Amino acid sequence: MNKIEMVDLKSQYLNIKEAVDKAIQEVIDTTTFINGPAVSSFSQNLSTYLDGAEVIPCANGTDALQIALMALGLQPGDEVIVPCFTYVATAEVIALLNLKPVLTEVDPNTFNITAELIEKAITPRTKAVVPVHLYGQCADMESILAVAKKHNLFVIEDTAQAIGANYTFFDGTVKKAGTMGDIGCTSFFPSKNLGCYGDGGALYTHNKELAKQIKMIANHGQEKKYHHKVIGCNSRLDTIQAAILDVKLKKLDEYAAARNKVANTYDEAFKDLNWILTPVRSKNSTHVFHQYTLKLSESADRDLLKAFLQEKGVPSMVYYPIALHLQEAFRTPEFKEGDFPISEDLCTRVLSLPIHTEMGEDQLNYIIEAVKAFKN
Ligand SMILES: *Cc1c(COP(=O)(O)O)cnc(C)c1O
Repeated sequence: MNKIEMVDLKSQYLNIKEAVDKAIQEVIDTTTFINGPAVSSFSQNLSTYLDGAEVIPCANGTDALQIALMALGLQPGDEVIVPCFTYVATAEVIALLNLKPVLTEVDPNTFNITAELIEKAITPRTKAVVPVHLYGQCADMESILAVAKKHNLFVIEDTAQAIGANYTFFDGTVKKAGTMGDIGCTSFFPSKNLGCYGDGGALYTHNKELAKQIKMIANHGQEKKYHHKVIGCNSRLDTIQAAILDVKLKKLDEYAAARNKVANTYDEAFKDLNWILTPVRSKNSTHVFHQYTLKLSESADRDLLKAFLQEKGVPSMVYYPIALHLQEAFRTPEFKEGDFPISEDLCTRVLSLPIHTEMGEDQLNYIIEAVKAFKN
């Protein structure tokens, strides 16, 4: 049995090696390292995959979020609502731009922000909300979009973990994660569901004016070379990364299916263990299982289970151990322990198991038996 990894990028690469090596070599042979043809080809292909949303590539997912906020013309002090149970990047860029991150609680079952939680956090200064589709499943966008519309808020989807997930609206319309709000932001970090071999990211939008603004900001605030209209930044996707992503995009749905197969096997194996809650599936969203995250019952000791699995050669991870309001960087007199009890509780009870596209049946069975052998 191969060594079990949280994400097995090596095995995945070996299965697509020929196509990836060829794509990389072509970029080197043509020395088109910056803004080469693969960048526009990949952006176009991703746009087609996203039912025509315009795709603007950039350097990483954090930049995508920052550029999105800049493109919407928010003013210092404007409030942006964001869940406190997420990766730091989502809130970090808000603070970095001198906007005010207004942290909120999340739903205890889906771990996502909800329309009700957003509505409670709205003030006259609220200008935008950043729902995060955590672990690969969309937040309930229909109700979130309705609240946003009612209060005139921009919606930026952080879809770094949910590329390829489908959300179904009440009228039957199906949309891809990241294409429902004003702007979607994603990351191509190697371990993400569509990962490159370095850093990468992208923004999506259906709004032509916003697309123009985003492109300009990501390119030093210029539309025409050496004519700088606004203060921007330098955020590009390398051609080599785009070439790799173009190969992997063709496999994205197949990869999501492989992840779902692993998730379904875990679900079935753990369904009778009363100390484990397997991931709750939303009725409106498919799940692309960036993470397969267990929620342990209060009686189970998460850290003991993690150590027990480690001993048996099974890695596991805690996404995330500390809610944002308790991070030193976000601590203000406003926030204290106990403010967001659901998120704080999740931080002590979640555990993500290995899940990836090349998981062997022997590995999967080994992980399952290891979890089942844990006595608490
Ligand atoms: C990975 C991730 C990001 C940031 O992406 P980078 O490419 O690492 O900058 C932002 N938000 C979420 C939810 C993520 O998982």
